[in-house]
Amino acid sequence: DKFNIAIDGPAGAGKSTIARLVANALGFVYVDTGAMYRAVTWSVLRSGLSPDQESEVIALTERLDIRLAPGDQGQQVFVDDQEVTSDIRSAEVTGNVSRIAQIAEVRRILTDKQKRLAADKGVVMDGRDIGSHVLPDAELKVFLTASVRIRAERRFKEIQDQRSEVTLEQLEHEIATRDRMDEQRETSPLVQAADAILLDTTNMTIPQVVEHILGLCRS
Ligand code: C5P
Repeated sequence: DKFNIAIDGPAGAGKSTIARLVANALGFVYVDTGAMYRAVTWSVLRSGLSPDQESEVIALTERLDIRLAPGDQGQQVFVDDQEVTSDIRSAEVTGNVSRIAQIAEVRRILTDKQKRLAADKGVVMDGRDIGSHVLPDAELKVFLTASVRIRAERRFKEIQDQRSEVTLEQLEHEIATRDRMDEQRETSPLVQAADAILLDTTNMTIPQVVEHILGLCRS
């Protein structure tokens, strides 16, 4: 039987890795909503707009065709048929995405898209506001967290080949700043839904977290 799983949590908690593995194990579709906010941010920057130009950013968001497709090395992301999978992970996009994500109308447009993607069930969706706002009726909600130090360390290992100049301290600072903006924004902030199960992964391996979530699906 198909159902929906919402996985939320702060930056670098392992949401996308875990969500993808859980989706594969269940034969469900994985939807990375952070990639959608990143795709908008990439387009904004490439158009030469500033995140402060809200009405232009909103008009651009309305026009964009953002597509997520399962690929060999994880999910591929397309904007108007251009592949942006790795471009949306750049330091520049990461540094601006939370400002774009504060714009209420941008959130409304992307939230509508996300609800449509999950309408037929059988979706594992990760983000910041999935359990609390996008899919309040999801059958299983998990809030993944870990200490900011361990999240920075994990991210450090992940991106060393792309951003070799970055230090662990810088990453820790970037992650903490992004968490603060995501928690403090007015529209659907990062928050653990009342009925979400909290999972602190500081001392857990990826397979342990995946197994734990699959166990929750069986119960
Ligand atoms: O998950 P990821 O780190 O790629 O998300 C990038 C950013 O997109 C987050 O820091 C947040 O500002 C925004 N986001 C959001 N709501 C979501 C998913 C991501 O505001 N559901």
